[in-house]
Amino acid sequence: MTLAPPALTRPASVTGPFLRQLVARVPGSSGETWKLTEVYTGDVLTELPQSTPEDIEQAFATARAAQRKWAATPLKQRLAVFKRAHALFVGNARTVADLIQVESGKNRRMAIEESCDPPMVMSHYLKRAAALLAPRKRGGPVPLLTSSTEIRLPKGVVGVIAPWNFPFATGISDAIPALMAGNAVVLKPDNKTALSPLYGIALLEEAGLPEGLFQVVCGEGPAVGPPVIDRADYVMFTGSTATGRAIGEQAGRNLIGCCLELGGKNPMLVLEDADLEEATSGAIFGAFGNTGQICMHVERIYLPQSRYEEFKNAFVAKARALDVRAAYDFGPEMGSLVSVEHLGRVQSHVEDAVAKGATVVCGGKPRPDLGPAFFEPTVLEGVTQDMLCGVTETFGPVVALYPYRTVDEAIGLANDTDYGLNASVWSRDAAAARAVAARIESGNVNINDILATAFAAKGTPSGGVKNSGVGARHGDQGLLKYTDVQNVAVLKKQVMSPRPGQAYEKYVEGMLSGLKMMRRLRIR
Ligand code: NAD
Repeated sequence: MTLAPPALTRPASVTGPFLRQLVARVPGSSGETWKLTEVYTGDVLTELPQSTPEDIEQAFATARAAQRKWAATPLKQRLAVFKRAHALFVGNARTVADLIQVESGKNRRMAIEESCDPPMVMSHYLKRAAALLAPRKRGGPVPLLTSSTEIRLPKGVVGVIAPWNFPFATGISDAIPALMAGNAVVLKPDNKTALSPLYGIALLEEAGLPEGLFQVVCGEGPAVGPPVIDRADYVMFTGSTATGRAIGEQAGRNLIGCCLELGGKNPMLVLEDADLEEATSGAIFGAFGNTGQICMHVERIYLPQSRYEEFKNAFVAKARALDVRAAYDFGPEMGSLVSVEHLGRVQSHVEDAVAKGATVVCGGKPRPDLGPAFFEPTVLEGVTQDMLCGVTETFGPVVALYPYRTVDEAIGLANDTDYGLNASVWSRDAAAARAVAARIESGNVNINDILATAFAAKGTPSGGVKNSGVGARHGDQGLLKYTDVQNVAVLKKQVMSPRPGQAYEKYVEGMLSGLKMMRRLRIR
């Protein structure tokens, strides 16, 4: 039975003319469009142009021309754009959240948090970019007579391919350090969630980013992604592991660099002494935040056998009490999945687990009475590795509980996965938690938090290991990856070959004793 969801008042900012103005930036010479819908209702919001190969070619040509001028603009002037943009992004955070919500269906609490990510990234790199991009004197092979300078040059045009789960953060935040470093960007967002990044680009241009420097092309991934990669000088991809492999292969063939931020099957380890209230609240966010559609969220919770029932009861009571519904205010604690298709994937994981012997402790069903793509917060027990959700990412509000007897066993179980994106360890004993963290195969480990502490620490690189990715965002490498190094070396006097008339044996003797002396004097 499909019940009609309750009537909703769409945010006042989401008007037809505003959305048409946003999508007008997307080239679509064939006239073909994609119906971009409001997730909560399924209503069509706007027709999104779909870019042809010729449109993509033109977008790169425009970006390349703009990039040459931008790279020649003094860094101070480039950074001034982002100082102004920071204020505009914060000032318009509510409109950003409106767009994120209509296109993704997430609850407003998550949407407003997402709106804060690009300003945080701007703040961090406004502090670091000048130091990172400054030429560095490294010294040459012969002291005083030679020098070598490391110079950072922009790569050119960076292709950014972004997913739907954090469209504003992945579409805009990952472009910011690329732009600061002097690159142009061509972004391919997911069709479903193109509005918020388009608005972010409009804000950047309002702040003074030159027109043409930040291009957007839209279309289905397998059609539009490959031509973007073929023209790009570097690819920043966020999305599933399967697509990441295809992108990495193409980037490899083209001999361009890439950063791949991929999926996870993230474990939460609760140690014996963990604070029950804090750990269960953390688990609620970890499993159901963003409707379970965060790459770093929790799909596996390992509990000490001695406290299993206590934790399970408290956690399930909180899961059952969650306020799940469609609303454009800050009330709901969980919103919708992104689409009816994605709901099908999440439901199939639960059905497969149940068919193979897992138990549904709570939830487990779609909620068409709340909207077309709502799914209940779901807790499973008895999940094994022959089940889809035992090994692959479900990417929905579905979490499995597992008891463990010893910490060694828990660590073994946590590491028994092809993924390695994020993990979370809970204990009142920081040293014990750190010792566990050191043994977990994961690019991020949060102690007494699920993910926000690691993700918001913009000074530290954040990425996945194993099948969860290659490279990282944030930290120094989050900007330097968008640059090439040029080694400018100067020889002030010809000393690296025998002097006229000098026997080669003598020259070699001098060279070898020079090496010894430099080592002794710690010159090299
Ligand atoms: P996806 O891989 O299906 O799509 C991501 C993007 O790639 C979309 O824009 C899509 O259109 C495009 N694409 C699809 N096929 C392509 C192809 N053949 N060539 C080029 N581009 C192509 O992923 P999704 O379902 O949109 O996003 C969810 C996934 O993203 C989850 O696995 C999640 O864990 C992951 N994710 C990872 C991070 C991270 O930082 N590690 C962050 C957010 C999401």
